[in-house]
Amino acid sequence: MKICVLVKEVPDAGVRKRIDPASGRLDRSGERTLNPYDTHAIEAAMVLREGGEVEVSEIVAVTMGPEGAVRALHKAVSLGADRSVHLCDEALVGSDVAATGYALAAALEREQPDLVLLGQQSDDGECYTVGAIVADHLRMPSLTQVIKLDVVDGGLRCERQAEYGYDTVEVALPAVVSVGDAINEPRYPSLKAIMGAKKKPLATLSAAEAGIDPGRVGAGGSGAVWSGAQEPPAKPAGQIIEDEDTDATVAQIIAWLEQRKLI
Ligand SMILES: Cc1cc2nc3c(=O)[nH]c(=O)nc-3n(C[C@H](O)[C@H](O)[C@H](O)COP(=O)(O)OP(=O)(O)OC[C@H]3O[C@@H](n4cnc5c(N)ncnc54)[C@H](O)[C@@H]3O)c2cc1C
Repeated sequence: MKICVLVKEVPDAGVRKRIDPASGRLDRSGERTLNPYDTHAIEAAMVLREGGEVEVSEIVAVTMGPEGAVRALHKAVSLGADRSVHLCDEALVGSDVAATGYALAAALEREQPDLVLLGQQSDDGECYTVGAIVADHLRMPSLTQVIKLDVVDGGLRCERQAEYGYDTVEVALPAVVSVGDAINEPRYPSLKAIMGAKKKPLATLSAAEAGIDPGRVGAGGSGAVWSGAQEPPAKPAGQIIEDEDTDATVAQIIAWLEQRKLI
């Protein structure tokens, strides 16, 4: 089984996210990191490989992003991927989620994977839709929010986290599966793996090399247009009740809750 894992470089959780009003795009300056949700997808690939139920011939990390996104690929390789593919081209800048999914599918088509794994969302865009778009372009079944993966009769039996419980779904391969963060506890990369990551094969692909129609990507090929953003309204200041006399404090809290019909 050949597995491709989609990974993305995102601003670090500590960076305050903001839209750049000039470009209408997320300001991606500052510290960046591998999208934490993607580490669960890489770990899921590693668990399939180590489980022994199926022979995993290759785990390939795939990203679309600017030159710096190569750091996310190195991290993915340090976590277990065998090699990586970087789709990187000026023509892709400004792609919305539909164009991004189309471009990623084109890169994946060259790889012919049996299984495509993704995280449930990205920590910056949070569109939750890349998996479904990629699956549609590849004409593969799409499963989301998968929290358990088992190999059965050449396919997969997946448990999906649904709103009111769990769905068990069997799917034939090839398929596109986005995993929930409850699926596993990603491992930490070893120092040796971190040091060796830059030596693992990395292919950089231009849009033309991936067979991408330039009219379907970039700002020109994207239907979504950013039209504005507003800061959330400021929250009114909270009320601090000092606990000097516990009975009086409790009475004050109860009165506060009763006033708002909370008790
Ligand atoms: C109008 C518009 C303009 C935009 N312009 C730009 C731009 O100029 N530059 C820019 O960087 N972004 C841009 N974006 C955002 C970019 O399109 C999103 O990053 C992309 O749509 C993916 O959505 P997401 O990250 O929210 O994916 P989600 O669906 O939330 O993520 C699910 C999973 O998909 C995978 N994934 C997502 N994106 C990638 C990727 N690029 N490579 C590999 N795997 C991926 C990850 O595994 C992730 O865990 C723009 C979006 C819009 C709407």
